[in-house]
Parts: sequence; structure tokens; C-alpha cells
Amino acid sequence: MGRIVVVTTGGTIAGRRRGAGLAAGASGREVLSRAVVPPGVSVEVVDLCTLDSPLMTTARQLTLLRKVHQLFAREDVEGIVVTHGTDTLEETAFLLDLHHHDTRPVVFTGAQQPLDHPGDDDGRRNLHDALLVASAVTGAGTLVAFGGKLFAARGTVKSHTLAVDAFSSTEDGPIGEVRDGTVTLFKRPGRPAPIPMPPRTVPQLPLRVDMVMHHSDADPALLRAAVAGGARGVVLVATGAGNATPAFTAAVAEATAGGVLVALTTRVPGGPVAELYTNGGAVDLVAAGAVPTGLLRAGQARIAVLGALLASDEQAERRRLLHHVLALPAPYRAA
Ligand code: ASP
Repeated sequence: MGRIVVVTTGGTIAGRRRGAGLAAGASGREVLSRAVVPPGVSVEVVDLCTLDSPLMTTARQLTLLRKVHQLFAREDVEGIVVTHGTDTLEETAFLLDLHHHDTRPVVFTGAQQPLDHPGDDDGRRNLHDALLVASAVTGAGTLVAFGGKLFAARGTVKSHTLAVDAFSSTEDGPIGEVRDGTVTLFKRPGRPAPIPMPPRTVPQLPLRVDMVMHHSDADPALLRAAVAGGARGVVLVATGAGNATPAFTAAVAEATAGGVLVALTTRVPGGPVAELYTNGGAVDLVAAGAVPTGLLRAGQARIAVLGALLASDEQAERRRLLHHVLALPAPYRAA
């Protein structure tokens, strides 16, 4: 029988009350000691860290990425589950998906209710479901199992601050579900080929990739400040289908001329960035060098930029890689 390795990183699934609020505090072993392990599944724990996920860093994400690749070098590992805080789960999961090179799955999960929640908290259910998915699904890359739903990492967003059904997808909804102990896959996600792994030591960490949001009255001074502050990438979170102003267009042109990767996403929850409007709209921003991010929202657009920057030192190759990971996946096909 193969085994599932659970890599724990903290989050509310490892959370309990501390002083006036909640914080991650339980070890991986403690999280697992409360898990309902599906019959026939054998579990091994790797306790990576105990972190509230707003405190996640690129360095820790890369440690996790390398650990996952090390585990995939083992033949006895059937699948990997990662427990993670829900706040930045979509970012870490997408970074791992960009580098996912194996038919075996990585399944992210977490909880909205802490470990010391009275009664049957969602973390126990989600961990059970993630273990089941990790032992049942192959060839689908990195996944997110949460609230009985199964998502491809790509396109997943935290869409409710408090509900146990916390995630949705900007791509194409859930790709499956877990119900009554059975995993059903509706479709398989289309995924671009994995990008090269970052070098073992990345001297320039933290590698700055900042986000700037457009809104009425917005001043591109913040975008210029990001570049002046050393950002090698910027995500412009625009309005509508990816629109800002002529002043932003000028700032984007300066940034890209200076070798900064600029990705263009939108603050609207649904639909793609589309080159429809001029006068500072997506037509002009793309002409100024911004790369439209399709259906990806800000958190994952930033990870796409970060992944491209980490994978190569060459400016042209970084841009090529960014286009590669942002290309719309092949149409979903029935599972
Ligand atoms: N703030 C928590 C975190 O992301 C929320 C959670 O885990 O659900 O670590």
C-alpha cells in the first residue's frame, strides 16, 4: 500500500485561541492526531512550519516546493497533502502547480474553524477529504480540497472570509467533489508544462513583486514607488476588464522599459482581462508592455510573475515564461 505524506505549514487547521484572537499553534503531529484517516490509507507527517498564512514568504514557499519534489523522488509515496492557512493558500498551491512534474497529486487543504472549535470542525473533514483525494486522483497536478469540493490549484480563490465553503474558481468551478467518502472527478484541468525549478539558492530573496490597485482617483505614484523600491515585478489590479488611465499607461511603459515584468489583472471577481478599451484601458496597458493574466486574480497573477522571475535570469526568457504560465489552459475535458 502506498502512503500519503502530509506536509503541515500551520493555518487555522492548526489554530487555537491565543490571547485575544486565533493563531496557528499546533504541530503537524497534533493536527494529524485528530484526523479521520480513510480506510487503507497510511499517513506520514512532515512538520514544515506552524505559520499563520498571511506571514507566508517566498523562502518558505520554496522550502515547501523542494520538500514536495524530494518526496516525489520516493517510490513509496502515493500522494502528498499540504495543510495551509486559507488566506494565502491559493498562492502557494499555484506556485507548486507551476512546477508540478509528477502524475501523483499534491492536495492542499485547511480550515476556517480552529482545532479547538467545539464539535466537528471543518479541518477534520477537509483533511479526511484531502487524504482521500491524494490516494484516488492522478494526473491532475496540484489540487485544493475544501468544503467537499475539489478545485484545480490554478484559478482557485478564497471567496468567503468566514464560510466553511471558502473557495471558488475563476476558471471553471470545481473539478470534482468528495461526498460520503467517494471522490468524483467531473473534469481534468488543462495545465501548461511545468516551468524550470528555481536555483537551489536564490540570492535576491525576498524577490519583490508588488501589487498596485487602480481605483477612481488612483495615482501611478504607487507603481513608480514599487519600481523605485526594487520591485522586479508588478501586478496591476485594474478595474473592469483590465482598465486604468493614460497616466498608468505611462508608468507601465517606464517600468517595462526598465525590465520590470508587469502583469495585468482585474479587481472584478469573474471574467477574463480583455483588450477592449483604449484611453488607459487594457489595449493601451498591454501595448505598454503589461501581460494580461486571463482569468487569474491578483494573488495568482503575482505568483505567475514570481515563478517566471525565479525560473530564469534572462529578461526575454522571463517574459516568455510568464506568457507560458498565463496562457489559457487547454479546454477542460471530461474526466
Ligand atoms: N488567517 C488564517 C491563515 O491563513 C486563516 C485560515 O487558515 O483559515 O493562516
